[in-house]
Amino acid sequence: MSGRTHDPVCPERTCVGCRERAAKNDLLRIVKNEDACVPDPRGTLPGRGAYVHPVLVCLDQAVRRRVFPRALRAPGALDTKALRRYVEQTTVAKQATP
Ligand SMILES: [Zn+2]
Repeated sequence: MSGRTHDPVCPERTCVGCRERAAKNDLLRIVKNEDACVPDPRGTLPGRGAYVHPVLVCLDQAVRRRVFPRALRAPGALDTKALRRYVEQTTVAKQATP
């Protein structure tokens, strides 16, 4: 992250895991696809979105409290396996880069 030091718009969202507010850019947007949660890192997919820090602690908290079906207006449980794998991979990638 460099350049753009005076971006006038800095939208905030609440992480559904730890409930802390953070800049939208620091959070991962989650959308519903069929009966699964899918990551939307570019924020381009249509529909309702939920925001979570792209880390396992926040994701697991959100899954444990079943916030995704509520936040995404799903009638039943949502599959979060693919989402979890995505977060695991991005976390590992981040840790590998100094
Ligand atoms: Zn969080």
